[in-house]
Amino acid sequence: MASVVIKGSIFDGREFFENGTVVVDESTGLISDCGKSSEAQVPKDTSQTISGEGFTILPGLVDSHIHFFGSTRYDLMEWVTTPDALIALRSVADMQKLLYAGFTAVRDLGSKVGTFLSRAVNEGVIEGPRVISAAKSLASTGGDDDPKILPLDIAQRLSYSYYCDGPWECRRAVRLCLRDGAEVIKVYASGSFAQGGKPRVQLTVEELKAIVDEAHVNGLKVTAHAYGETALMNSVEAGVDSIEHGIGLTSEIAAQIKKKEIFYIPTLSAFLASKPSGHKDRDALVKRHLTQDMALAKEAGLKIANGSDFIGADNELHGQNYLEIVNVAKFFGNREARTAATETAAECIGLAKSGRIQKGLEANLVVVKGNPLENVELLAPGNVQHVLRLGRVYTPKR
Ligand SMILES: [Zn+2]
Repeated sequence: MASVVIKGSIFDGREFFENGTVVVDESTGLISDCGKSSEAQVPKDTSQTISGEGFTILPGLVDSHIHFFGSTRYDLMEWVTTPDALIALRSVADMQKLLYAGFTAVRDLGSKVGTFLSRAVNEGVIEGPRVISAAKSLASTGGDDDPKILPLDIAQRLSYSYYCDGPWECRRAVRLCLRDGAEVIKVYASGSFAQGGKPRVQLTVEELKAIVDEAHVNGLKVTAHAYGETALMNSVEAGVDSIEHGIGLTSEIAAQIKKKEIFYIPTLSAFLASKPSGHKDRDALVKRHLTQDMALAKEAGLKIANGSDFIGADNELHGQNYLEIVNVAKFFGNREARTAATETAAECIGLAKSGRIQKGLEANLVVVKGNPLENVELLAPGNVQHVLRLGRVYTPKR
């Protein structure tokens, strides 16, 4: 048994203190000790010591909403027609970028390769974060992610979603995801911008209830894409575990989300980056999310989890996912943003042994220069010095 010793300031997910030491057992991949350097037990079998001027050690970052589309553009037809092998190869590169940017866990909410990436990284075949994958997302026929230009059978075969209509088809779709190796279920409770500024309900409350029941019976959580008050209320009523985007909060809905302890993932980056579209309703929806929704989420004290919704293309490049943390900080403050990207996100995606620095937990850590609690921009990949996942050290080449 050998150990890696890391010295620096520590943000353990809750508290920040200087002159800390983390000891990692390489054979188990767990944290064997941590705390003030004066108190932590440094073993004799140390194989590597990591320390540097101004280093801060944090729990590995978690992005609870991404997609592995292996695509170069933000374009539905490209997402569905890129060959699977090419998606996989590009995604292997994205996995590596995510890991070296400090992300030790991600949740893939609908893609054609996510469960295979998860398997490959667990087998040690490729480098990357732990992937919790939804396999394919569940959507209604003719919804926003159904490329309606194609005949339905071809669209279904090429899609990253299973189209399902009615409670029994929805249950079957959950079973297909389970068969694919899903570890979470993602549903479209509404459409999105493809419906202009008036997103309509997609899967109904009856369909959502069937999905939640089938998923929960099989031990999987359900997360809902929801734009608009009705989709939000349907998702809450159906008993989902988290809400993605969550546009259209009211104080009543926020209170329900709080009461049911549902995680709220505002995916701010896409909305902040969106330029006025000229569509009055769409622009009003973006504005509402960035003002009223955030104010209500803050007021209600919702559990905010970090989720970028990056797909790996255009201005949503994997490896740049820290930008969402910067954006969460703009609305909720640096400390809340740090927790959203560590403890809360890990809890949201079901990783009980991750998200904090604590004896006995998995050694998933990121070491950066400077104090990101004071300046969240220090989480940028160029400032990441080392990343540990399950006790193994990854050092970005510069
Ligand atoms: Zn998404």
